[in-house]
Amino acid sequence: MSERFEPCDCSEAHARRRFLTASFALAGMTFVGTGTLSGIAYADALTKAKRDKLTPDEILALIRKGNKRFSSGRRATYNYLAQQRATAAGQYPMAVLLSCIDSRAPAETIMDLRIGDIFNSRVAGNVANPDILGSMEFACKVAGAKVVLVMGHTACGAIKGAIDNAELGNLTGLLAKIKPAVAATEYTGDRTSRNYAFVDAVARKNVELTMSGVRKDSPVLAGMESSGTIKIAGAMYNLQTGVIDFF
Ligand SMILES: [Zn+2]
Repeated sequence: MSERFEPCDCSEAHARRRFLTASFALAGMTFVGTGTLSGIAYADALTKAKRDKLTPDEILALIRKGNKRFSSGRRATYNYLAQQRATAAGQYPMAVLLSCIDSRAPAETIMDLRIGDIFNSRVAGNVANPDILGSMEFACKVAGAKVVLVMGHTACGAIKGAIDNAELGNLTGLLAKIKPAVAATEYTGDRTSRNYAFVDAVARKNVELTMSGVRKDSPVLAGMESSGTIKIAGAMYNLQTGVIDFF
């Protein structure tokens, strides 16, 4: 921020410092408050103190609010270079996400988040594996994130592939991880990939199974959840509406 200002005499410098202090205070309030105040930029990055103060529920509420800003066309005005500079020396992300590689569901954009706000692991069909669990354990136990969010999305190609028993190189093995969700989805009617209602029901079930898999296969995260240090949550992103539905 300070680079924007030229050197100046003392009284001006004091006035600017007061202005900057006020701006930062307001930016902080805005971030946990109701949304953007026009003309006041958000703070450039989460600090350790700010992140540590947030509860898992408050973090989920911030993500929900960010998605509301996105889906209603009121995204915050961000200075990415300022965020890059503010985060260069350290990161204090509040959550770790597991979401699909789908090009239409970039978490930071649809949640209106800044550089440094979240860890984000992306893989087709948002399925977990030991490497992803290790990444989540790092995110929460070492780096201090307090929410594990598994996010699926509507009209997911990986889910369709699993329903269709598609086979292709390494993709076959990936889709095998989604197939239990196909079998476990209770749905009467057309259980094919042509039926988007079924595809989306499987995607939701897949998120639920992935969440239970995280708890079962990561005693580290399960322990942190039982002690209330973190929350493991699920969500579905709707490509049509831009809205994220939290479970
Ligand atoms: Zn997908």
